[in-house]
Amino acid sequence: MTQAPPPAIYSLAVPRFVGVPTFMRLPYVGLDAVAGHEVAVYGIPSDAGAPFRTGARFGPQAMRAQSIMLRPINPYRGNLDVLGTLRVCDAGDSPVVPGYLPETMLRIEAYTAALLAAGCLPLGIGGDHSVTLPELRAVAARHGPLALVHFDAHTDTWDAYFDGLPYSAGTPFRRAAEEGIVDPARSIQIGMRGTLFKPTDISQSIDLGYRVVTTDEALALGPANLARAVAERVGDAPAFLTFDMDFVDPASAPGVQTPEAGGPSAREALAMLRALHSIRLVGADVVETNPLYDGPGQVTALLTATIAAEILALIADTKRGNGKTPAGGG
Ligand code: MN
Ligand code: MN
Repeated sequence: MTQAPPPAIYSLAVPRFVGVPTFMRLPYVGLDAVAGHEVAVYGIPSDAGAPFRTGARFGPQAMRAQSIMLRPINPYRGNLDVLGTLRVCDAGDSPVVPGYLPETMLRIEAYTAALLAAGCLPLGIGGDHSVTLPELRAVAARHGPLALVHFDAHTDTWDAYFDGLPYSAGTPFRRAAEEGIVDPARSIQIGMRGTLFKPTDISQSIDLGYRVVTTDEALALGPANLARAVAERVGDAPAFLTFDMDFVDPASAPGVQTPEAGGPSAREALAMLRALHSIRLVGADVVETNPLYDGPGQVTALLTATIAAEILALIADTKRGNGKTPAGGG
């Protein structure tokens, strides 16, 4: 008779500094053995799409190193045993080719597709925000057009960078709308703030069909009302949550490519995530963590890992069926 292995190395039994730091001390599983896991956390170590500070290629390693702090129970959703509810693994890193963005995008799409084919929900850790477009291509190929829930200081719906080049960390959500893999009418962008290139930097998203909630509006709404707005927008569509770490104020998350002053604190950002409910997530990522610019204590990497764990808790809560009913139902 075999006993099921514990979902993760238990830090009350094995000190945190012992062993190889996988995400939340979960088992590392290669593509050949991911089947049977409901969620596969995987690194996407590419910064080939970064128009400014490179270094997000080191994001997955830094996030994993800090994720050893995380414990399996989430008290913000009724002491939810996240790792006991969901079978989660660390599926390693997507292949990338430094300096070759189009080739890197093909390899990310293939790796994400392989995780999906094995029945796993992909939870990616970037990487700059260009990694999300190939993720969306793979997830939409399986689930159809996606509702996007996008936390970011920037819309990332610019048309082109540097004389007409279509792919970068600043363009994925225009490409996704054009390709029909995201349904902007079901999608919401949250957190926009700061100076603009053109007066249309925000309205270009609205023109594509997205709903835009600025940082000021998100903070004025508060977590519960914001969560209601997200649930109303997304409805029962298959959804992809993407979280750009520059959504958070640079005081709490300095290690990013394009910091914007005046954002939500770590506490405020986590409260917004913890209030989300009843979203049918079929994929997610946390991106733009750049450890080369992180502060003492690796605060950005720690927050990145914590946000990934909150997304896991949202997925587990939805599976448990104890998510509150969507807005309109109470
Ligand atoms: Mn972004
Ligand atoms: Mn951004």
